[in-house]
Order: sequence, then C-alpha cells, then structure tokens
Amino acid sequence: MTMIEDNRLFHDAVGRLEKAFQYADIDREVIERLKQPKAVLHVSVPLRMDDGSLKLFNGYRVRHDDTRGPTKGGIRYHPDVTIEQIKTLAFWMTFKCAVVGIPFGGAKGGITVNPKELSRLELERLSRGFIRTIADFIGPETDIPAPDVYTNARIMGWMMDEYSKIKRQHTSSVITGKPIELGGSLGRYDATGRGAYYCIKELERILKFEPSNTTVAVQGFGNAGQSVARLLHQDSYRVVAVSDSHGGIYKAEGFDVPSLIRFKNEIRQVKAVYCKETLCEMVEADRITNQQLLELDVDILIPAALENQITDVNAERIKAPIIVEIANGPTTPAADLILNENGKLIIPDILANAGGVTVSYFEWVQNKAGYYWSLEKVINRLHEIMARQFNTVYKLREEKGIPMRTAAYVTALRRIGKAIEAKGTQSYFHNSSHP
Ligand code: GLU
Repeated sequence: MTMIEDNRLFHDAVGRLEKAFQYADIDREVIERLKQPKAVLHVSVPLRMDDGSLKLFNGYRVRHDDTRGPTKGGIRYHPDVTIEQIKTLAFWMTFKCAVVGIPFGGAKGGITVNPKELSRLELERLSRGFIRTIADFIGPETDIPAPDVYTNARIMGWMMDEYSKIKRQHTSSVITGKPIELGGSLGRYDATGRGAYYCIKELERILKFEPSNTTVAVQGFGNAGQSVARLLHQDSYRVVAVSDSHGGIYKAEGFDVPSLIRFKNEIRQVKAVYCKETLCEMVEADRITNQQLLELDVDILIPAALENQITDVNAERIKAPIIVEIANGPTTPAADLILNENGKLIIPDILANAGGVTVSYFEWVQNKAGYYWSLEKVINRLHEIMARQFNTVYKLREEKGIPMRTAAYVTALRRIGKAIEAKGTQSYFHNSSHP
C-alpha cells in the first residue's frame, strides 16, 4: 500500500461519520472526539533470527476510543501493516463493538512482517518481544488484544504467557482468542464466520431465499472465510467459488466445502478437490483470479480477505445483489456509492464480522469469572446478539431509507454518543450553573 492510499484509508473511514451524524441526533462534539485516536504507540521490536543475526520490526498499538469500556481489537502480522492502517482498523473496532452493544471501545495492533518467512521459534520470540514492548499500554481493564490477519490462538497463548510473566500473575483476561487449554472460549475459533452466517440467516428469513438455489462466492479462505462457507454449505447453500491470496476456483454446481477446507489446511492450497477418508481427488473446476471472483454472477458475495478489494475501478462490474463484508474495510466509499446506486444490499463489516469480537467478549467475561461456558451457551448467546443487532440495523435502514452501512454507523454512533454525552458536552457545561 502506498503512503497516499494509506492516508486515504483513515480519511475515508472518518468520512463515514459525517453521513451517519445527520441521523444520529447527538452532539457535534462527539464526532470531533472520534476523529482522532485516543493513543498511538509505535515500537521497534528486535528479533534474534535463527542464524544469529538481528532484525528490527515496526510494531504498533492504537487505542481509538474507550468511552464505552476497555479498548479491544486484534493484532495483525502482515508485510503491508502501517500506522495509518492500524489507526483505521482501531476506529472500525470502536464502531463494531458499539453496533453489537458489547462494553468495549476500539483498538488494533500490528507488526510489519511477513510471518510466513519466519521459523516457528522466530515467530514465538517476535510475539513475546512485541508484548514486552507494549505491556504497559495493554491490560485486562485497559486494552485487550486478540487475533487478526495471520495471527492465531497459539500466538495469543504466547502473548498471554509473556504478559503473565511480566506481571508475575496469571492474567488470562489480557488477551482473547487463546487456545482453549489456556483459557480460550469454546466457539471463539469460528465466531467471526458464524456471526456473518447469522446475518445471512436473518436475510434468508426476511427475503425468503431458498438455500439450495442460492449461490455464494467467498474471497479469502482463512479462518473466517472457511467458517462461513462451511456453515452455509451445511444448510445447502451452493458455495460456487472460493479463493486465497494466490487465486481461486469456480464450479457452477458448488463445492464440497469440508473437502476444500481439509485440503487448504493440510496442503495450504485452494484446490478443487473432493475428499473421502484419507483420499482427496481433483474435481472439474475453473481457475479464476481474485478479481474474477468478485465479479461473478452469484447471489451472495463474501469478501473475507483484506481491505480495499471493491473500489471505484471494479464496483460497476459487481453483479452479486448481496455483499456480506467479513473482511474489515473491503469496500471503499467511492465503490459504496456505485454499489448503492446499483441497488446492492451490503451487510457492512462492522456488523457482519462482529461475531469474533462478541465471542472475545464472552471469553473475557469467562476469564474474569473463572467459570467456563458450554459451547451451546456460547453459540446461543452469539446467535441472540447477532440476530437482535442485525434487526435493529435493518429496521433503521427501512425507517430512514438509508444504506445498511449508514444504519449500522448511526446505531453505533448513537450508543457511543450517549456515552460521551453522559460525561458532559459543551451544551451541558455552557447552559447551566446547576449540576
Ligand atoms: N480481529 C478481529 C476483528 O477485527 C477480532 C477482534 C477481537 O476479538 O478483539 O474484529
């Protein structure tokens, strides 16, 4: 990503506030507060490589807003990580937590690194080193990290362990998305995909679509993309295309999703296969690029990879009437305008991918209580929150005749705004001499 595209990302994100403000009925001061992150930390993480040499990596942690509770958000390992991008992702987390009504503000962290180029031991040293540099900035009551792109449960486990060593006490609630054995929550692993799946189930009910006649394309076949594809396939949806960073596959009749998942996780490739017991065999399918996947004539398009995938360059060519954003920020504001004009229904990232942080909240609650829930309880509570908040946003969209994204921002902004106003704004301090 270039510096200019990067500045644009934060600028674009903040721009969405202005549109939502018109409908939110809150003090203008709230918007001004939310235009800047609360705190930004830039660190340099030294890593002793396996060959004895030393490398330095840039790391970041941004806390955007903590009015509604401690800040919350993942840690990303990616070669394209920049401070502007992390600021933007932290901003989105504030709105994501508010739109599902969980008591957290927003944060995000990251290291500019390609983790695929590190050995496992290097990865562990880097992860522990990062926590040592940011330990004073995070904490169970201040800022709680979690996994994001190219980080996982094992890395969260190392980070929790390192933090606990520094504090000289077991502190499982400092981080979520941990392995179950280290205080992770059942159901956290596939919670992001499952949350999106519940949004689609609500749409199914409202718009009355027949799953076996509904085609789906998923861009990005990591944790979230795999989970939503698996759950939809289980319900007889036709998953006709999936892709990873190397490209994708298309088959009009739909794929056997469990086979694709197994192959991807064992061989690390997206391939058109059908697997039975220990054997996987190739099936007929077309190879497609990521761009072609986005432009397929399907009923539901699910971008589940990275930001800025649907832009003003390709928006006009998007055919899917429904877009469910599992990635953070896959659609640029310019693309949004085009898609809205073309009558597309977009379930925005801050709602569609909020299942992950919702179960992170459950994990934090369980850690603090020292009492662990059954998978059934986690899933039922996630379902209840996603369905309720989806319908709140959907109703507002109908009432005001605004896009689903604007309705999601208005819902979040009202909640954040009320919290900020509760501490007093200009109008309160200006207008009265009495308490
Ligand atoms: N990284 C995830 C997200 O973008 C999860 C954050 C969390 O669980 O705190 O929503």
